[in-house]
Amino acid sequence: MKFNPKFAKLIKSTRESFLAKRSHTKKLIYWEENHRLRDGPGKALVFIIPTRGCSWAMSQSGGCSICGYLYDNPEQPDFEKIVESFDKIIRESIQDNQVYSIKLFTSGSILDSKEMPRNVLKEILSTLKKYNEIEEVVLESRPEYITEQVLEQIDSNIDISKIEIAIGLESANNKILKDSINKGFLWEDFERVVPRILDKGAKVKAYLLFKPPFISEYDSIVDIMESVEKCVLLDIDTVSINSISIHRGTFLSELFDRRGYRTPWLRSLTYLCKQIKMEFPSLRVICDPVSGGNERGAHNCGDCDRSFIDALKEFTLTQDIVVLNNIQNCSCKSDWKSYLIHEKISNKEVVLP
Ligand code: SF4
Ligand SMILES: [Zn+2]
Repeated sequence: MKFNPKFAKLIKSTRESFLAKRSHTKKLIYWEENHRLRDGPGKALVFIIPTRGCSWAMSQSGGCSICGYLYDNPEQPDFEKIVESFDKIIRESIQDNQVYSIKLFTSGSILDSKEMPRNVLKEILSTLKKYNEIEEVVLESRPEYITEQVLEQIDSNIDISKIEIAIGLESANNKILKDSINKGFLWEDFERVVPRILDKGAKVKAYLLFKPPFISEYDSIVDIMESVEKCVLLDIDTVSINSISIHRGTFLSELFDRRGYRTPWLRSLTYLCKQIKMEFPSLRVICDPVSGGNERGAHNCGDCDRSFIDALKEFTLTQDIVVLNNIQNCSCKSDWKSYLIHEKISNKEVVLP
């Protein structure tokens, strides 16, 4: 079985009590940001497409223990309006002298036809096909939706070498996937789908989750390093280290409110980025912590948070570890080191009911 039914039941009960508070926003949200493309710095246009949301989160298994994206998705998406707004934004945003990555996020899986009708995906990709300035198009999806058929459809609508499929692997460790995240798929599912994507000519980005519930900061550092190594062996050229930010209405949020969880240190993220880049210099490493510097996101002592966040942003853009060595000194370094040791020692084995 790919998930732990008792854990799933706990997650589902939290989910149900929050679903009534869904925001039902139907507006296509987008923003522009600086971004590291494969060939160097450029711009990214990030779209949050208001589909009905993640099928795994809506399933009887409750979805992932850390994810509350579903509360922002409408029950009845308006695809006509989405396509119309998308075309207009692309037309008005793309500049001749720039290169772009277009990130298409749905807070779920864009390749799940229950979430995103195939004809709508086709229209969106056909719009993007018209612009030479667009060098990368990122599509987020769980592995089970990445079939030969869907890859062929993408290939017939756009130059597939521009496509990057971003998969929330989170960890290559099946115990973490089952008993900490409730991911609903295993490493083997991911491992099976990656060559299928690469053989078609598209790229893969793996999202790895730093510090899921019940895992100490130290153990998560070890897990990320092991997961990166396994991704590299699959010929993946980009990993994104996603640090936990606590979403309301999730199992993790309840754990946090009961003081059963401390959000990660920014120091651990800079440490990880350095280690990964030294070990795998040609790998593109992305790390831009959401809610960085806040109690519900990665933070240090408060005094040095800004300089760590800026250094991570700069590193993500330049891929140069020198920027991570130039961060201001702060006395919380020793607190971080002792925290790593003490949390690991005091972290009791959590036995699920
Ligand atoms: S993390 Fe991804 S797969 Fe998991 S519930 Fe959220 S959107 Fe779905
Ligand atoms: Zn500090």
